[in-house]
Amino acid sequence: MMEQKWKEYARLLVEVGVNIQKGQTLVLFCPVDHAPFARLCADAAYDLGAREVVNVWTDNYMVRAKYLRAEDSVFSEFPQWRADMFYALAKQGAAFLHLRANDPENLLGVDPERILRANKAAGEAQKPYRALSARNVYPWTIGCLSSPKWAKKVFPDLEESAAVQALWDRIFEAVRVKGDGTAVEAWKQHTENLRRRMKILNDYNFKSLHYKSANGTDFTVMLAVNHVWEAGGDVTASGQPYMPNMPTEEIFTAPNRTGSNGVICSVMPLCRDGNVIRDIRFTVRDGKIVEAHASSGEEVLKNAISVDEGASYFGEVALVPYDSPIRRSGVLYYETLYDENASCHFAFGHAYASTLKGGTQMTKEEQKAAGLNDSITHVDFMVGAKDLSITGTTFDGREIPVFIDGNFAF
Ligand code: ZN
Ligand code: ZN
Repeated sequence: MMEQKWKEYARLLVEVGVNIQKGQTLVLFCPVDHAPFARLCADAAYDLGAREVVNVWTDNYMVRAKYLRAEDSVFSEFPQWRADMFYALAKQGAAFLHLRANDPENLLGVDPERILRANKAAGEAQKPYRALSARNVYPWTIGCLSSPKWAKKVFPDLEESAAVQALWDRIFEAVRVKGDGTAVEAWKQHTENLRRRMKILNDYNFKSLHYKSANGTDFTVMLAVNHVWEAGGDVTASGQPYMPNMPTEEIFTAPNRTGSNGVICSVMPLCRDGNVIRDIRFTVRDGKIVEAHASSGEEVLKNAISVDEGASYFGEVALVPYDSPIRRSGVLYYETLYDENASCHFAFGHAYASTLKGGTQMTKEEQKAAGLNDSITHVDFMVGAKDLSITGTTFDGREIPVFIDGNFAF
């Protein structure tokens, strides 16, 4: 049965995730420990007419070893040839499938300053590549694979092999894979549900949202004028629909860069740069994070919001009901792709141009003038408390309940 589910999952990632087209190149990032799964994805891509599968192996061990043992100067540079390679592939419209099996604490004990420098160097070198992404030139998808270190973090009380199996079961549930060939149809249904609420939110065209919960959150976020709520996938500039995140449960849009005020508190740990950050508490004034606290990982958090000017402003507002299937599983995944889809969240860092009307056609300056934040980073943190209320205010001053007790009011 597992064999069947892996096959169906691989096919889903390629067919619905990046939605590979005949003659299109697939760039496949996969942890080397999961080579058999990468091969299933390659088979699925060739079955669907892919031109070529370019595979890039990744490895948690190598990443950690490098941070601990490489020469210090390494972290200030990002090889130009590597940036050029991905830029060239993106420019020709290749599809990018990122498979992850991260150890949430892979970088524990690594000098945070090295991580900061490496992120800055990578962010700078890959600006042209990200600019193509901002214009939606190529389709991409992220999906996760169960692995011993990640699974033991999620299920510490289980034996390793049982933990790995339990995590696979959760993953399959979240991505709606049953092994009976119904996943593609199930995604169609799911997407339609997300879009129903997306339409309601777009029709209200809120000026601002006010968040309140007992954990200290009392926060008002002004939305970008001309914002658009998005959900259930994206479409490239050339018209190819794709699903950037699998799973996805969120409906999200762009805040106005300088329009947020108040205190916002996280409800779930955030894994960032191989560290776990707990109990984030941001004080925000005119959009800027002016105070940042965490009960653990505070230094990593402070570094994360200072990689550049835009890192201390918000770029995403996302709504996920407390009763989402991922939250209902009651499991904390220590993996943003899963945890962000269990909870309402914000991101500090860059905003998606597609969440603004005409945004992908605008220049950087026009985007900024329209209220979009720009940064080399984008980090989601989860704020969806069980008692969270969100009230929307329209431009004509009406107050509309959007969330009551953690769930959608409509
Ligand atoms: Zn999000
Ligand atoms: Zn995000």
